[in-house]
Amino acid sequence: TPIESFDVVVIGAGPAGSVSSALLRQNGYKVLVLEKEYFPRFSIGESLLPQCMEYLEQANMLDAVKKGTFQYKNGAAFSRGDEYEYFDFREKFSPGWGTTFQVQRDCFDKILADESQKQGVQIRFGHALVACEEIPNARLLTALDEDNQQYQVSAKFVLDASGFGRVLPKMLKLEKDSSLAPRKSIFTHIEDNIVCPQYDRDKILITVHPKLPEVWYWLIPFSNGRCSLGVVAPTEVIDEIGTEPLACLQQLVSEGGRLANILEHAVYDTQVRSLGSYSCDVTSLYGKRYALLGNAGEFLDPIFSSGVTIAMTSASLAAAAVHKELSGQSPDWESEYADALKVGVKTFKEFVEGWYDQRFQQVVFSKQKSEGITKMISSILAGYAWDKENPYVKTPSRLSTLSEICKSA
Ligand code: FAD
Repeated sequence: TPIESFDVVVIGAGPAGSVSSALLRQNGYKVLVLEKEYFPRFSIGESLLPQCMEYLEQANMLDAVKKGTFQYKNGAAFSRGDEYEYFDFREKFSPGWGTTFQVQRDCFDKILADESQKQGVQIRFGHALVACEEIPNARLLTALDEDNQQYQVSAKFVLDASGFGRVLPKMLKLEKDSSLAPRKSIFTHIEDNIVCPQYDRDKILITVHPKLPEVWYWLIPFSNGRCSLGVVAPTEVIDEIGTEPLACLQQLVSEGGRLANILEHAVYDTQVRSLGSYSCDVTSLYGKRYALLGNAGEFLDPIFSSGVTIAMTSASLAAAAVHKELSGQSPDWESEYADALKVGVKTFKEFVEGWYDQRFQQVVFSKQKSEGITKMISSILAGYAWDKENPYVKTPSRLSTLSEICKSA
């Protein structure tokens, strides 16, 4: 049988895969997505940033997401001991959406995949990509179907949106260590039974361990009385506790001060998972007839919930560059894709480093922030990390000066 040919094959149907495939389909391309799992499937990464809404609109998926009855989100709250500060994303420097959702990713990713199928993208669930070779004018891809049978397809262009599968980085030896320190995360979903009247369900709550500033927790409320709860710590802190994941998570939560009080009636009724050494990087985000999207490229850290936003930004930038390439206009992949994507990645990275070395915690918990600067920081936390009008995007290292001012005030 002749090999089936596609304009674009996308590996993975997470947010990067669904958004990029829909955008390419809108430009008339024949797009195939290979997804090794069956949806709905669990994924971590449940707190979206308002910047995502723009990409959901571009991909014609926002109405479907709005019908998903997800938890409304308008900001991020931070707690440390008796201190409590929050950023309201509606009060921000950059134009654009100021609210978004917190989503159960099994449902959310299925909605996005369904929407891209409705727009004419073909998705093959239960099919894993296992090889990718260069052939004249195309790439030859080998996949395993649900019966473990191998077959081949060709594509003029391949987008790797395989997340932590990191399919092409592994096959093409593009993996590079992240410059961020290795950390570990333990997380689960709980029946939260929160009665605390001050608790704001419209914001993600980030809590800093009262004695260990590198240890922090997320509490991401859903719309059904449940929450995603997780802790992030240096690998050695978790290894030292040494118990199984549920006991370790509960011990760390019991040390969390105000968080422990908020969760006093919580029921832990779901599998506890853990992930370690998730920060990763690559030597190049693109090559001949391929590009790497989302987590298949670089992943920083969960602290600012930037993962899905970076995944969708990469999908939008890559879809535009592929469209240029397939319509014979030779895009400059370095400037139009890699450099363009890295603007926001660099901003988030400075803030991630600043979180762990305390510079950003100093800013968050300062009572001395001016309204103008608060709006600039709020913009970045809302995902507008590519808006070069924002001085903290143009020169992310300004964070150090701001931190010094907050410290001496
Ligand atoms: P994914 O969503 O991972 O999708 C990749 C898909 O590719 C999967 O469905 C997989 O089955 C498929 N695949 C893999 N290998 C193959 C193969 N060989 N063939 C075919 N298909 C394949 N981000 C946020 O925005 N907010 C958060 O609150 C947040 N919290 C996080 C907490 C932790 C502890 C961690 C580690 C990450 C968190 N993230 C968060 C990041 C977020 O999980 C990711 O950035 C996001 O899911 C990346 O999307 P993606 O589309 O690149 O990949």
